[in-house]
Amino acid sequence: MKQHIAIDGPAGAGKSTVARLLAERLGYLYLDTGALYRAVTLYLLEHRVPLKTAREEEVSPFLRSVDIDVVSENGMRVFLNGKDVSLDIRNPEIDVAVSYVARMQVVRDFLRKVQRKIALSRPSVVEGRDIGTVILPEADLKIFLTARAEIRAKRRWREIRLRGKNIDYKLVLRNVLERDTLDSERRCAPLRKAEDAVLLDTSSLTVEEVVAKIYALVVGRG
Ligand code: C5P
Repeated sequence: MKQHIAIDGPAGAGKSTVARLLAERLGYLYLDTGALYRAVTLYLLEHRVPLKTAREEEVSPFLRSVDIDVVSENGMRVFLNGKDVSLDIRNPEIDVAVSYVARMQVVRDFLRKVQRKIALSRPSVVEGRDIGTVILPEADLKIFLTARAEIRAKRRWREIRLRGKNIDYKLVLRNVLERDTLDSERRCAPLRKAEDAVLLDTSSLTVEEVVAKIYALVVGRG
């Protein structure tokens, strides 16, 4: 049985849902690493750091007062300095700002330690952008999930509407494309498939089908 599963891919490929269900089915810890970048972004925005222009040296001192913790409950809850910010980190302001934070090497180094500590504490399904390449290169199974941009945007749009927010689909698509560019073109730890990762296109698969495929790989039947 494989103990540490890395799932990477672009926004809206279905990583979070798939990783959460897979972790539940396996009884493993589920770690959504995007939530950690979002929590740091929330903290910096609350402290009025101008994210698009800030230099890493300016951001670094703030990280010293960031304490992040996660709890497995309804998927995963995130605590920022003791406060549950699981809902706040899903605001659309964070959606755009987070890519500017995620491209900073100081932030990535800081979160790398946090991620490894949590992920290696128990068998886990870890979901993100650079898990197979940078965070857990030793993972027992690496999956790279992808899907066409329009499909990914539609999934995001539905998710946001389910949370009761009305938003234009075109705006969501633009955001998905913008994040794709920022995430794959950034200098540090860009989004890319690890050489030993299994590529899975989810465009025409249901969530259950994707989970079943990965589950089979985890238990060695894939
Ligand atoms: O997965 P989610 O959409 O919540 O991630 C938010 C952002 O965090 C991504 O757009 C990306 O910029 C960043 N991220 C990252 N590395 C990860 C997870 C997320 O750079 N492992």
